[in-house]
Amino acid sequence: MREACDSGILSVNHRSDDFIQLSQKTIFLLKDRLSIPADYSVFFISSATEAWQIIAQEFVDYNTVHVYNGAFGKKWFENSQKIKPKGEVRSLEFNLEEEISIEKLAAFKEPDLLCITQNETSNATRISNEKIFELKQFHPNTLLAVDATSSMGGEALAFISGDIWFASVQKCFGMPAGMGIMVCSPATIQRLQPCAESKYYNSMAFMNEMMYNWQTTYTPNVLSIFLMSKVLEQSSHIDKVSQRLAKRSIELYNFFSGLPRIKNLIENTAVRATTVIALHAGEKVISEIKKTAKENGMLLGNGYGNWKNDTLRIANFPAHEDAEYEKLKELFVK
Ligand SMILES: *Cc1c(COP(=O)(O)O)cnc(C)c1O
Repeated sequence: MREACDSGILSVNHRSDDFIQLSQKTIFLLKDRLSIPADYSVFFISSATEAWQIIAQEFVDYNTVHVYNGAFGKKWFENSQKIKPKGEVRSLEFNLEEEISIEKLAAFKEPDLLCITQNETSNATRISNEKIFELKQFHPNTLLAVDATSSMGGEALAFISGDIWFASVQKCFGMPAGMGIMVCSPATIQRLQPCAESKYYNSMAFMNEMMYNWQTTYTPNVLSIFLMSKVLEQSSHIDKVSQRLAKRSIELYNFFSGLPRIKNLIENTAVRATTVIALHAGEKVISEIKKTAKENGMLLGNGYGNWKNDTLRIANFPAHEDAEYEKLKELFVK
């Protein structure tokens, strides 16, 4: 932050060469570190929630199916309905402990847009790259939109299997909140409504046109873009980061499964998230643990939605150090 201040970048005009250089550099770094295909487009937006809105507005005529098993997926579905779509917007819920069933999806006629939440932060489940590939193979002409808000930057995602990926920066990127990014396949770009018909400042065709010159349709969060470039410069390649977090998550899951009053919320190891871990226990135990953690300078995540009082969530993000989890484990043993 101090470097950003001193460098003068915070005062530059967002149409200037200095900004264009920063934007281009950040996108190159993002593609390099996360292995995003070269022909995919990257856009700076304000949040993951905004991505829900952008997608629903852009593909308002499309028949859409939202497949989810938790609170974020459900919220996205509800958000799409509120846009007053002209196409049909339907939902398919699946069980926490199961993977998405292709047979159940087959009951719907082939949608134009399929929306999934790759990492369901509310209940700590994830959808594997293999499953995403399978979904794409099943409906190759369907645009596949993927909410990867709490995994992008922490898990190696197979971008090639999806069309529209998005995330906010305050989760695995370890940055202060206030920006989102959207990553789109060439197939997505081909299907955008004509720019002349863009109705919104964040219509995708308009964003795409501005991005030809590494610019945004509005004055962006330049500090966030700068911080992202710095975070990425210091990050290892996602394959390495992903391995480190996966290993740590297994250690944590194993540790928690050995404790008496607590259990892992998700039992099926094939669908457990790596970047967020949810624990399940009696309400009293949960509030005790949160209290003890807080007294020891650690903030644990509350349960979410239906799980508010009898679960808690632990982030396993790249910015966290192993030593912090050792400290956390000690609290649980006490
Ligand atoms: C956090 C989160 C969001 C919302 O992110 P905002 O930055 O608040 O817009 C959406 N989806 C998932 C899966 C999330 O974890």
